[in-house]
Amino acid sequence: MELNIGWLYPNLMSTYGDRGNVICIQRRCQWRHLNVNILPLDQEADISNFEKFDLVVGGGAQDRQQEIVMRDLQGKKAEIIKEKLHSGTPGVFTCGSPQLLGKYYEPALGERIEGLGILDLVTKHPGQNVPRCIGNVAFELVGNPLADDIKKMMGGESPVVVGFENHGGRTYLGDVSPLGKVLSGYGNNGEDGFEGAFYQSAIATYAHGPLLPKNPFLADWLIVKAIEHKYQETITLTPIDDTLAHQGRKAILKRLGIKK
Ligand code: GLN
Repeated sequence: MELNIGWLYPNLMSTYGDRGNVICIQRRCQWRHLNVNILPLDQEADISNFEKFDLVVGGGAQDRQQEIVMRDLQGKKAEIIKEKLHSGTPGVFTCGSPQLLGKYYEPALGERIEGLGILDLVTKHPGQNVPRCIGNVAFELVGNPLADDIKKMMGGESPVVVGFENHGGRTYLGDVSPLGKVLSGYGNNGEDGFEGAFYQSAIATYAHGPLLPKNPFLADWLIVKAIEHKYQETITLTPIDDTLAHQGRKAILKRLGIKK
């Protein structure tokens, strides 16, 4: 078995260690003897890279880089991504990436930028004088099929997800499920208590950290989904000793005063 991991704009979109999500998926596949190819999805990439990916990863970006990406993706590339996510190809998108998958992004300076319209959400930056949403974030997975899958995978209880957020934009969901409910931190906008979004098999979140090494059960869920979608057969992954990751997660939760 072999997975092609598409990586959105590795040079423009990898703030706060988000490349760690790609490395985490790659290593967890290799430890199970699954072959992995990493395909950059950027300005230089052949369009066939977009057609070939089985799982897609997008990291965060500063506003200026995000705008370049949003303009470059419009058209054929956006259509392919839309069709793939719609039909169940899994993905994980952090911070600037979900913003660009939404309907639009209003930056602190300059005009509204059209998003790809894949996720029914909008993001508005309230201005450079308004404090950014910065700090550790912890949230429960609720209100979507991922939450149920993770519960089953972990034998009954879904672990609290931890990450680090740093964003100026505030995201408001339309007709799309949230990824979870904030226990500590800001999440999408610091007002409605929602964190991220979940669409088909795509995870959208404000949690950097990077997300997957800190919460490895999400990495395994993505790998399982990618294999099942590509090969149309169910699989069970060989367990990996994630004691250190779980201890790290627990330490953050303790610091945040969350008893879970
Ligand atoms: N442009 C975004 C914001 O500040 C994204 C930041 C990020 O990806 N970390 O809201």
